[in-house]
Amino acid sequence: MPTPTASTGSTQPEPTPASPRSQNDLWMEKAKAHLLQNYKQQPITLVRGKGTRLWDADGKEYLDLLGGIATCALGHCHPEVVAAAKAQLDTLWHVSNVYYSEPSIDLAAQLTALSGLPRAFFCNSGAEANEALIKLSRKVMKDRGSPERFEIITFENSFHGRTLATVTATGQPKYQKGFEPLPAGFVHVPYGDLEAVRKAVGPSTAAILVEPIQGEGGVRVAPPGFLKALRELCDERGMLLLVDEVQTGIGRTGKPFAFQHDGILPDAISLAKALGNGLPIGAMLCSEETSKSLTSGTHGSTFGGNLVSATAANVVLRYIRDPQMLREVQEKGEYFISRGRELQARLPTIIKDVRGRGLLMGIELNQDAAPVIARCREQGLLVNSAGEKTVRFAPAYIVTREELDEGLRILERVLTPA
Ligand SMILES: *Cc1c(COP(=O)(O)O)cnc(C)c1O
Repeated sequence: MPTPTASTGSTQPEPTPASPRSQNDLWMEKAKAHLLQNYKQQPITLVRGKGTRLWDADGKEYLDLLGGIATCALGHCHPEVVAAAKAQLDTLWHVSNVYYSEPSIDLAAQLTALSGLPRAFFCNSGAEANEALIKLSRKVMKDRGSPERFEIITFENSFHGRTLATVTATGQPKYQKGFEPLPAGFVHVPYGDLEAVRKAVGPSTAAILVEPIQGEGGVRVAPPGFLKALRELCDERGMLLLVDEVQTGIGRTGKPFAFQHDGILPDAISLAKALGNGLPIGAMLCSEETSKSLTSGTHGSTFGGNLVSATAANVVLRYIRDPQMLREVQEKGEYFISRGRELQARLPTIIKDVRGRGLLMGIELNQDAAPVIARCREQGLLVNSAGEKTVRFAPAYIVTREELDEGLRILERVLTPA
């Protein structure tokens, strides 16, 4: 196990017996000295994981119901993903998109078959996948002879990423503050408000970009029928429907993609988080018609389609194709929501709402979530916040009902007034 040292060396610091400092504290000190201080990080360094369990540098064990923020779909160090990635590491890592590579071709075939969107583009993150959606919609309108249509309608409280364009698409001013001037072409309307969307559509509108569930925004599920109404509106007005499935895709909600609950087909979607089981990979999937706008040379990514990430993703998708696996995700999510509502009934003044779909769940409190999350961590449960007051749960799909109960027990202990 490596231990932090004061500078770049790799030798173990000798903790003097007089000051038995924890390894977590030593790492935190080094982190504070060298890392950009752009995150509010929990004061532990995680060193090992297996399934839904994690261990920190001092050997403390945690139940992980955050799953790397909805990334580790099959759990930490899933044996099949590890074996496939290791074999690929021994064979070939990366060749760039100057050449074809087998894992990304297989992955494209799997994703397009599962989604009904016949073309795949690979990148490295959710923000990059959304950038591809934004560029796609602008280029499609140019190619259709409507260069004046460049605006994208997105939603208040949404989250689409941290690049300049995606942070502008994001409907939360706190993420944009200080980075002006922001790129033109984004309009925000209240989530779930169809009338507001209709009013926002004008001669310059190219597309609507929507999350089926606002994840970072507080685990808010779109009202029933909303996505379908957006699809109809887009068809009526010749706009593209872009669905951000970065957090909801790859089985998270009990279907391969969350839009499939609504019986619609978007023009294009973005993917990332759970796709590589924790290895970085993003993707954009789109229709045949729109795909024709991104011709040779119009878009690209050096690392896109990396062989190791794509290999891991191929294993994840093999599991996602299993209807039993998806049914389990849905049923375990329903189980959590019903147990969460029982907890709410016991703590009615403390818990405001319990919501979610599949294994993306939120418990909204009547107070700031941050101190609650810190106390949960002290008690061995890892979760985080979505919005100010919502505790987010996005565990691996292999989580058991017993583990969900264990997490809720810890939360109850933390929330129950002394
Ligand atoms: C996490 C997230 C993103 C950004 O993904 P990155 O990989 O951090 O760039 C975009 N959209 C949604 C819905 C997300 O949850």
